[in-house]
Amino acid sequence: MEEHISTSGTWPLSAFRWKTERFMDRYVEAFRERKILGIKCANCGTVYSPPALICVKCTTELRLERDEDWIRMSERGTVLSYTVAYTGVAPGGLKDLSEDERAIYVLLQLDGADTHMLAQLEGAGEDEVRVGMRVQAAWASETKGALSDLAHFVPAR
Ligand SMILES: [Zn+2]
Repeated sequence: MEEHISTSGTWPLSAFRWKTERFMDRYVEAFRERKILGIKCANCGTVYSPPALICVKCTTELRLERDEDWIRMSERGTVLSYTVAYTGVAPGGLKDLSEDERAIYVLLQLDGADTHMLAQLEGAGEDEVRVGMRVQAAWASETKGALSDLAHFVPAR
């Protein structure tokens, strides 16, 4: 079995003890400085953010050790899809969420990225979120090089 490290955080998947492999290390560590990184395929130029191990377009291995293949991404992006969670994960199972507790999860594409990422959207209600909505990253008040540093996204100002 391959070695894994666990990353602390409050992203929804952390409730399922989501673990990241080492290829996520540089990406997650950059959160400490409130930077979102991406990695560019040296063969075809596809930009991955979050990073990947292999380019799905041309099957080239991404050069995670090469500084010049990493780029700083925009903190802004566009909502491609979304869902509203009426049920949440609670210790021991699931629970129905009240209107105030409901969360909106968006699939978004950062400007300049060829890939998508999932995030929670705050600052907009169910009646406001739209496909095509412009959003921007919102950081935790104190960062520590963890997934939870990238707290959520908000409507772009
Ligand atoms: Zn490629």
